[in-house]
Order: sequence, then C-alpha cells, then structure tokens
Amino acid sequence: MTTTEPDKTGPSFASLDPRDGTVLAEYPIAGPEEVGLAVERARAAARWWRGQGPRGRRAWLLEYKRAISSRAQELASLISAETGKPDEDATLEVMLAVSHLEWAAKNADKVLRRRAVSAGLLMANQAAYVEYQPYGVVGAIGPWNYPVFTPMGTLSYAMAAGNAVVFKPSELTPGVGVWLAEVWDSLGASQPLIQTITGDGSTGNALCRAGVDKLAFTGSAATGRKVMAACAETLTPVVIEGGGKDALLVDRDADLDAAADQAVFGAMGNAGQTCAGVERIYVHEDVKDAFVGKFTARVRALTPGSSITSSYGPMTLPAQVDIIRRHVEDAISRGGKAVVGGEDSVGEKIVEPVVLVDVPEDSSAVTEETFGPTVVINPVADLEEGVEKANATSYGLGGSIFTGDRRRGLALAEKLDVGMVSINSFLAFAGIPALPFGGSGDSGFGRIHGADGLREFARPKAITAQKFSAPLNLMTMTRKPRDIKIVKWMLANVQGKL
Ligand code: NAD
Repeated sequence: MTTTEPDKTGPSFASLDPRDGTVLAEYPIAGPEEVGLAVERARAAARWWRGQGPRGRRAWLLEYKRAISSRAQELASLISAETGKPDEDATLEVMLAVSHLEWAAKNADKVLRRRAVSAGLLMANQAAYVEYQPYGVVGAIGPWNYPVFTPMGTLSYAMAAGNAVVFKPSELTPGVGVWLAEVWDSLGASQPLIQTITGDGSTGNALCRAGVDKLAFTGSAATGRKVMAACAETLTPVVIEGGGKDALLVDRDADLDAAADQAVFGAMGNAGQTCAGVERIYVHEDVKDAFVGKFTARVRALTPGSSITSSYGPMTLPAQVDIIRRHVEDAISRGGKAVVGGEDSVGEKIVEPVVLVDVPEDSSAVTEETFGPTVVINPVADLEEGVEKANATSYGLGGSIFTGDRRRGLALAEKLDVGMVSINSFLAFAGIPALPFGGSGDSGFGRIHGADGLREFARPKAITAQKFSAPLNLMTMTRKPRDIKIVKWMLANVQGKL
C-alpha cells in the first residue's frame, strides 16, 4: 500500500528522467500525519505477519520474489527512467535484489528460531535458549543510486525477520519505491506489509519520529547524523549504511588484466555512483605503468551517454557534478596528473571518465567521497603501504585486493579497516546473500544481508528453563555459608588455574 494516492491539496514533487529532464510523475510529500497513519497501519500488518508463522512468511516472500522477477523488465525500465542508468545495469540490480529476497525468505527461520545454548557448569540445572523476535515496524529510508538493490537489502531482511516496513525512497526515485509496494499489494494479502511514503528529507525526518521500532537508513554520512539525532530523542535504534571511499589494491604479482577490468567496472560503472565503488587505486610501483596502461585503454573504450546501451548514464543528482569538478580541480592544482580526461570532462549531465595519477593524499579527491566516474591511482612501495593509505580515511565500507597469492590477500584483507573485502574481484561480497553488508566510521554501522542482516531486524531474547534444583544454589537469600565456601574454593582452584 502506498500513501501516494492523489492528494490534490497537499505539497508534491516531480520525479524527473535525468537523461532529458522529462517529468515522469508527481508524488505527494507525506507529512507527519500521513507518516503516522502509515506506521499505524504497519503495526496491524506486523501482527498479521507474525501470525503467518515462519512457513507462511516464507511462502509470501517467495511469491513476492516471483512477482518482482516476472515483471523485472518493467522495473528495470523504471529504474533507468528515474536514475538514468542503462538497462543492463538496472537489470543486474533487479537480479541481485531478488537473490537476496530469496535467501532471506529461505533462511530466516533457520537463523532466527529458538536454539539451545550451553548453560555452563555453574548453571547446569538450567536449559538455556536464544530466540529472535521481530521489532514490529521497521522504517526504511533509501538512496537513489541503487533504488531497488539497496532498500531491498533492508526490506527483504526486515520482512523475513517478521517485521512490517514503511519505506521512504529517495525523492529522486519515488516511482521505484511505489512500484515495490504496489507489487506486494497485487499479491492479494490482506495487509500492507510494505508501505511506501513519498517525499523529501522532511518526510524522512517524520518517519524517524513516527514511533517505528527500528530505523534503517541508507544514504550519506551527513544525513545519517541527522537521522541518528532525530531517532535519539525516542531511543529508536538505527542502522546506518553510509557512503564510502573504497580502495582497490594491486600487488606486483596480480593478474593486471583482471585487475584493470574490475577496477574500471568498480570506478566507472553506474557513473561512479556506487557506495562501495572504487574511488582510489593503490598499485605496486613495479607494475604501476603497466597497470595504468591497461586501465586507461579500457577507460578510453567506454561510451557514456543517455542511450540504453551506453556504458553509463548521466549523473542522477545534478548537484553531484559540482563536487566532482571540485575534486578534479583540487587534485590537478595540487600536482596530480589527469591521464584520461580532466576538468573539461565534467559536463552538465554527463561526466566523461577522469583518471588521475600521483595525487597528494590530502587532496579532496582522495579524502572525500566523489561519487562520480573519476578515480585516483597512486603508487605504493608494497601492499602494506597500500593498506595503510587505504585505511587513512574516515570511511570504512569495502575494498578490493588483487594479488597472485590468495593467502597473502586474506592476510591483507584482515588489515583493511572496512566491513567487506573482495580478493581478485570487485564487489563480489554484495552479490553473495549469505555475507553481511555494512561498514564502520562514516560508512555507518549495523549490517544488512546474510544471517547478521536478519538478526539486525530482530531482538534477541534469552530464555531459561530450570530442569532441577541446583545443588549449589547461590541465587537465593537463604544460601548457606558452605555454598560460598565452595565458590571461593572454585575461584581459587578452578577459575584461577584453568
Ligand atoms: P542522502 O543522504 O542525500 O539521502 C538519503 C535519504 O535520506 C533520502 O531518501 C532523503 O530524502 C533522506 N533524507 C534527507 N534528509 C533527511 C533527514 N533530515 N531525515 C531523514 N531522512 C532524510 O543520500 P543520497 O544522495 O540519496 O544517496 C547517496 C549516498 O548514499 C552516498 O553517500 C552513498 O555512498 C550512500 N549509499 C550507501 C549505501 C550503503 O549501503 N552503504 C548504498 C547506497 C548509497
């Protein structure tokens, strides 16, 4: 169900096609009252959902997955229209989103159902259990760059964990959000398990204050801080999936063709508008020239534009162009060299690829999220130095390592201060539903995807059941001096020695 039914009197906004500025549709800006009503409806839906039990929820979610998949082309076209990304990229996004939905549906019960844990020697008279219960209503606020894949990382796992969701999509991609709720409604369930409320930051803020049981935010670190501040007033727990400044490291013995291929996809794909996109490359100095040669040859072959077959499309958010221009200018004015493109590459809608080398580490192109089809390549004496430089940022989302030695790759991965690392590929972790997704620092905290993503949207509950009276019962006002004597003996002779 959506709260986007026409309200001719209230404020509204238009969704535009960034390729040519066409107005795609008008949507209402939901205020606190509409948001509050949506949360109220969600509360009833959450009760209904809980009553479906694990089997029922699995069946509904798999039906939802089939419905999205069978209308995938329709959804991909809508994504393309609202973001400007080529059809192929939009289709890939839908594919990844449904694979997560399927995994969440099929694994929720296994991950969240009651399980027995060891009670330990001291409490051996107890049976001990952990179980996970849904929060109830989860509010989700999404970005525009992957308007299906990213929010579905929240929605799928939150619903599979037993919650109803109220979703506030980005004001740049409201149609996609409305579509996701409408497809749920088309299944004929009696309850609006997913409701989409449209609007801008004010609607997002209203959702933070609407009494949801948990708020999952995906977007920039700056907005994440505002979301946390608003949620702090009611102690509403939050998940923050923020931005990134991810690095890709290339070792001396790496397969340079594979590294160049993946680095180009990571840096330029989706016009660089990927939270875990490649923004910095640290390459071993011995292979720097060879790598830069292979990388730039591939970059020069790209054909950005507004056609559905372009390598990547226009910038979805027009204001991003100024940030990209500032970063490129700053890098060049501080001595960095543009080996592909330059300041003139930053057009009004389309940004042509820019490859910068030897850029000072304190340049904004290295320290701030650029979110454009630009990348910095700097040489390092070895990958230890690469790791050190990769870690010298306020973000901690993902990273990639290209090496001829997988074990060395694993050792380096351990040292990267990020939530996700792929060795000899880019972004593989995002496509594996069993793996948790999220970061640290300005990239946020909490996890979506995988078992951790399911647990993120459930409250752990500890339960004990006494099996027999304890021979040594300390938790009573009538314990005997002899009991404490035994404890003292145990502390000295068991705990103190083992
Ligand atoms: P943004 O922070 O501008 O907006 C995100 C959402 O927050 C939008 O829906 C917006 O309407 C809403 N919002 C704005 N002000 C608000 C407020 N005061 N209270 C509540 N909600 C508010 O981000 P964006 O430009 O839409 O997305 C790009 C950013 O998202 C980049 O930094 C990117 O790296 C990040 N991102 C992160 C991930 C991840 O999983 N870590 C995924 C995709 C994008």
